[in-house]
Amino acid sequence: MTRSATETDLGRTRRARRIGRVLTETHPDALCELDHGSPLELAVATILSAQCTDKKVNEVTPKLFARYPTAADYAGADRGEVEEMIRPTGFYRNKTNSLIQLGQALVERHDGQVPGRLADLVTLPGIGRKTANVILGNAFDVPGITVDTHFQRLVRRWGLTIETDPVKIEHEIGAMFPKRDWTMLSHRIIFHGRRVCHARKPACGACTLAKLCPSYGTGPTEPAAAAKLLKGPRARDLAAAAGVDPELVPAQAVQAEAP
Ligand code: SF4
Repeated sequence: MTRSATETDLGRTRRARRIGRVLTETHPDALCELDHGSPLELAVATILSAQCTDKKVNEVTPKLFARYPTAADYAGADRGEVEEMIRPTGFYRNKTNSLIQLGQALVERHDGQVPGRLADLVTLPGIGRKTANVILGNAFDVPGITVDTHFQRLVRRWGLTIETDPVKIEHEIGAMFPKRDWTMLSHRIIFHGRRVCHARKPACGACTLAKLCPSYGTGPTEPAAAAKLLKGPRARDLAAAAGVDPELVPAQAVQAEAP
C-alpha cells in the first residue's frame, strides 16, 4: 500500500484516530489473549506463542505455571520435562532453551523478577522488542505498541505508514495516538487482523473500516462473499456492525480464528 499523495500528516493522523475509534466499537472484547497471572507467566506465555495460537498456549500453561512458579524453577528445570510439557506449542526445543535461559538470566541479573523496563527486557533470552512491549503493556500497565505481523499488514493497508521496519512502524503509529491508548490499540488492531482483515483474503465487504481504508477492495466487497471470511466468536456481531446480515456468516466461521 502506498500513501495518498494528497493526504496531509494532520489528515492522516485524524483518519488514524477515526480508525482507532471504530476499532474500539468493533472489538469491545479485545485483550491480551494469553492467560497469565504475573509478569513471569506472561513472559513465558509470549515465548511459547511464537508460531503458535494463543489458544494452544493457554492449554499448555496451567500445568507449566503450576510446576514452575518462579524464575529459579525454570533456571533449574529438567530440559526433557519442559520439552514434553510444551511440545504441543511447536519449536519446543528452542522454546525450552529460551525458558531455561530466561530463568537463569532473571535469577542472575534481576533477583528472579521480570524487570519493568524495555531496555532491560530486550536483553533477556527469548524476549525481543515485540514481546517486551506485550509484557510492559499487559503486566506492568506501561503503554506499549506491539508490532506483530497483523499490526504491520493493517497499518500499511490503511496507508498510515510505508515503513517495513517494526521499530519505525512502532514510532510512527505511536506518534498518531495518545500514549495511554497504545496497548489497547495494539490488541484491537491484532483482533481486526485475525478476524476481519486477513493476509490473503480480507473481508472488505463486511468490514467496519471500509470507508476509512484506502485498500478497500483488496478482498471481496460483495457482502455474502465477505461475510464468509469473518472469523472468531463474534463473527456475526462483526457482520452486523458492518451493516451486513449476520445470517450470511457460516457456523464454522464462528469457531475459526487466525493465529
Ligand atoms: S476494508 Fe479490507 S483491507 Fe481495509 S481494513 Fe477492511 S478488510 Fe482490511
